[in-house]
Amino acid sequence: MKNKMDVVTWLDAHQVEFTRMADEIWANPELAFEEFKASKLQADYLASQGFTITWDVGGVSTAFMAEWGEGQPILGFAGEYDALPGLSQKQQTSQEPVNAGAPGHGCGHNLLGTGCLAGAVATQKWLQATGQAGTVRYYGCPAEENGSGKIYMALAGAFDDLDAAFNFHPGWANYAGKGSWIAVSDIKFRFWGKSAHAAAMPHLGRSALDAVELMNVGVNYLREHILESIRIHYVITDGGQAPNVVPETAQSWYFIRAETLDELNEVVARIRKIAQGAALMTETRLEETVQAGASNMLSNHVLADLQYDSMKLLGPIEFTPAENAFAEALAANYPPSTKKFMADAFGIPIKVLSRPLVGDVFPSLDEGRVLSASTDVGDLSWKAPVSMLMTACFPTSVAIHSWGAVASAGSSIGHKGMLYAAKVMALSAIELYLSPEKLRAVRAEFEVKVAESPYIPPVPEDARPPEVKHPYR
Ligand SMILES: [Zn+2]
Repeated sequence: MKNKMDVVTWLDAHQVEFTRMADEIWANPELAFEEFKASKLQADYLASQGFTITWDVGGVSTAFMAEWGEGQPILGFAGEYDALPGLSQKQQTSQEPVNAGAPGHGCGHNLLGTGCLAGAVATQKWLQATGQAGTVRYYGCPAEENGSGKIYMALAGAFDDLDAAFNFHPGWANYAGKGSWIAVSDIKFRFWGKSAHAAAMPHLGRSALDAVELMNVGVNYLREHILESIRIHYVITDGGQAPNVVPETAQSWYFIRAETLDELNEVVARIRKIAQGAALMTETRLEETVQAGASNMLSNHVLADLQYDSMKLLGPIEFTPAENAFAEALAANYPPSTKKFMADAFGIPIKVLSRPLVGDVFPSLDEGRVLSASTDVGDLSWKAPVSMLMTACFPTSVAIHSWGAVASAGSSIGHKGMLYAAKVMALSAIELYLSPEKLRAVRAEFEVKVAESPYIPPVPEDARPPEVKHPYR
């Protein structure tokens, strides 16, 4: 394994190990913070390959770090393995759950985690064979879909000493991301008042529901005086029990999204004032719980270009006629407009998605775009340079977070996209080990971007993940 292209050969020769792992995670979908089987499966495999495992990264019981090698540079591969609720689906082209109501891998994180793991292991084999100095890490990152596991890992300093990081997400075409994912803050505002008979002694009551309503009205007035790009959405999760009892407690749950952390923190501060004002008006007490959040993504363009160069070396993904037929049959379940909405949301020019499966290689498709979704890879991006690699794992009309994506993530289409991603990331990592100048260029861009504004994460510094006991370790 002297030549860097030998990692490609190695990955091809070992692909069965990785497709089996991805399929096992696919067949045992687990929700955020409960990825017990997936994390154990991956950590055991990495330990068997000689990696040193550290569990409980950031205090999350299903988070771990696997490390191999010595010295600098330190390159990390950030994988995920959580599934989505209610998306159970068989690996076929019509909708039918394996277990009705059970979770399913509608975002392809079975591929995401395993592809990053395969990239890390292939890189390790190359380091081992060549004697090249350097350290490779795999991070098992829980709860991307809900709960933002990486934010706790970031707050604990788990990514601080990384020189660069790799992350891949199943997508519809092959390109490395340069776009920005928006920041989000997830906060519950609960008010406490005094209950009383609503007809006989209303003057003795202080309504927590009034506070909720006044807060929401205040926020709706605020909308006129904020940037158009900011999104605020809420639900009332508790509005009291009965009309004849003045509600002692009530709660509104908010998601607040902005293009940058600065903009997010500014609007959250204004919303907090409105909540405090509502409490003052109604003589209630405000209790605020920051549930989670994610920072906007600082995509590293040098790293994206490096991955594009690796993709050009590899050429496109070739799909078989059977895979194209599967993709076409799956896509037929979705209205034609789905393609346009997916393209818009992820900053992909619609012309790229011309066929049911697009295995071609593209330069970054989302440059200059702010994508209308959030990811906790954003928090990693403030700690180490990263560019999210997207590879073709889904038919172009199939929306993520839907049953069709589950079917595709369990098929040979998903396997091919995953293996391809592992190759691209391993080749790009090797370039960074071999070329200090390239790594310097990646770092230089990163230093400029993080210097533009401070990292003030959308959760308090002392935020803790939910306490969950891992049953298999
Ligand atoms: Zn995802």
